Amino acid sequence: MKYTEIMVRYGELSTKGKNRKSFIMQLAANVKHALGSFPAIKIHADRDRMHLLLNGEDSTQIIPKLEKVFGIQSFSPSIRVDREFSVVRSAVQEIIKTIYQEGMTFKITTKRSDHTYEMDSNELNRELGGAVFEVYPDIQVQMKKPDINIRVEIRREGVYLSYETILGAGGLPVGTSGRGMLMLSGGIDSPVAGYLSMKRGVEVEAVHFASPPYTSEQALQKAKDLAGKLAPYSGSVQFIEVPFTEIQEEIKRVVPQGYLMTVTRRLMLRLTDALREQRNGLVIINGESLGQVASQTLQSMVAINEVTSTPIIRPVVSMDKNEIIEIAERIDTFELAIQPFEDCCTIFAPPQPKTRPKLEKTQAYEARLDLEGLMARALAGIKVSEITADSQTETEEDFSDLL
Ligand code: ATP
Ligand code: MG
Repeated sequence: MKYTEIMVRYGELSTKGKNRKSFIMQLAANVKHALGSFPAIKIHADRDRMHLLLNGEDSTQIIPKLEKVFGIQSFSPSIRVDREFSVVRSAVQEIIKTIYQEGMTFKITTKRSDHTYEMDSNELNRELGGAVFEVYPDIQVQMKKPDINIRVEIRREGVYLSYETILGAGGLPVGTSGRGMLMLSGGIDSPVAGYLSMKRGVEVEAVHFASPPYTSEQALQKAKDLAGKLAPYSGSVQFIEVPFTEIQEEIKRVVPQGYLMTVTRRLMLRLTDALREQRNGLVIINGESLGQVASQTLQSMVAINEVTSTPIIRPVVSMDKNEIIEIAERIDTFELAIQPFEDCCTIFAPPQPKTRPKLEKTQAYEARLDLEGLMARALAGIKVSEITADSQTETEEDFSDLL
């Protein structure tokens, strides 16, 4: 039987009191965006549920897209039939025939939103259970955790039957928490940081620093592809490429080796913060993980973070590398991230960066730069592109043997 609609259960929305309406509206907008390539679908969102009327669109293609939309607890593809009891009865029989396998237990769960219907839920459960026994006389009923649960919902406009509950992505609808600027390198950590903040409702814009010709076209493409992996969670991601060559060359020229990294990070943070302000962002997100590398000690954080009072969200700060990799694999960013295209930090990285940079020294070295001019030129040269969920480019080379 062909599914005619998908019933969506809201996630944490139910606990959000008076914000509920805006949460539901944002979720509806995000679902619409995610399912943009299926124009026939109609979305009806009410207080408790969202109903996607498929109007002939293929549910097997829609389900994977819906699984990525944050704010959905679970959803059930369902079949709408006429309210006539004999029709409901034969639909239940047809369903059980398609899914029953030897030894499976079942139950019928009826919910009657329309109380004018000719039978009440108990009667319906009994009668429809009987219809199942007619097909499989030996099948067992089980109330707790049956293998098959056929849900029947009686509504004014028809009767809805479903037997599958698919787990949603959880979290909050992207956009309900405001906008944040994600510092996106080509590494493993920052895409995971982006994903985790999106999961809590943050609309993410990706900021990527590129230093051509020191960094390659492939390194840039890799960062864009990573942004493409995040796009399905929100429909699309704005990708901002910041030209960083002049700044890196200048830092290299005037700052002692040991402080190259610290000063570079401060410039990245200053630029990201300037972009945040221009683009009405509230926070900055990065992929720092405590102790992972020299620039990620607490002392480094103190020396780098000093340039702004904007909150910096570090979703992976306390995770072990393995834990981060586990998420990267799940969201399919790991394979891309381990491709060996070096980014600007790797290329300009000093052999021995200070693990405990002093704030006063950092400030003094940074003061050797023409901050204003350097930043103005970098900001004037940004390139903004929209990365949509469907625009991911497939990578041609196979690096699987590097694993
Ligand atoms: P990642 O795996 O995200 O690259 P990392 O462990 O390699 O992180 P660093 O290279 O120290 O750590 O970078 C720390 C954070 O700084 C990154 O997670 C990212 O948020 C930001 N960052 C580093 N390089 C860039 C870049 N080229 N463009 C934008 N952000 C960057
Ligand atoms: Mg990195």
